Amino acid sequence: MLIAKKKYDPKRARKFKRQYTAWLPYLTTWDAILRLMAAEGGIEYRFKPGFVLEDGVVGMCAQGKNGGIIYVHPDRFKEYATAHAERPMALASFLHQLAAHELAHLQRGGGDGHSEEFSSTREALGRATAHLVPAFAVLCASVLRLPVKESPEQSQIRELKEQLARGGAGKGRSIACGSKSPSSRRSGLPLLQMRLARPAAPSRGAAPTACGVSRRLCRCSVVTGPPTCRGLAWSGC
Ligand SMILES: [Zn+2]
Repeated sequence: MLIAKKKYDPKRARKFKRQYTAWLPYLTTWDAILRLMAAEGGIEYRFKPGFVLEDGVVGMCAQGKNGGIIYVHPDRFKEYATAHAERPMALASFLHQLAAHELAHLQRGGGDGHSEEFSSTREALGRATAHLVPAFAVLCASVLRLPVKESPEQSQIRELKEQLARGGAGKGRSIACGSKSPSSRRSGLPLLQMRLARPAAPSRGAAPTACGVSRRLCRCSVVTGPPTCRGLAWSGC
């Protein structure tokens, strides 16, 4: 954890340290995202995650004693998680962009700041790991316990499963009372199983894009401005 004494309220810093365990899910999520992206992007440098408490900073990559340290500002992370609590794809997109930026610094050694070569490395890493964004959304929703709303398809599947459960119980009673009419058999368990087995029709506007993310979700994935960062030990960042 890195605390900027002159650029972060000391009272808030003390409160953060007292409630540190409450922030562990955020650190766990950040760590998992960094590890998955580093593995997919072929980054073999050692690093660990961390929190930085400094106003005006969202993420930071610094050189520690035993490898890099990739920081995220916990307040900014929580603000995004709160603002997009029902749209984890937006939160996942924000974290993906931030992680790509900081991992690119790690990959290039931090010496060239935000040069053209750095931008190329960051964008290449972003493209190589874009398919992980939906998985990051699931990860965020699960670890941070976000109140995610069901999609229409998920609601339909849940309702059909409930009907299936009720139909299963009803079938037992039907056998007990000797009901064998064709209509009752047709409208019971087998029909529901057929409906569940049938793939749901793609919803309007959810066609996949080149990056593999549905258009509807892409519209949610708006990040207001590029993430800011400042290297601690490396110049020009
Ligand atoms: Zn940077």
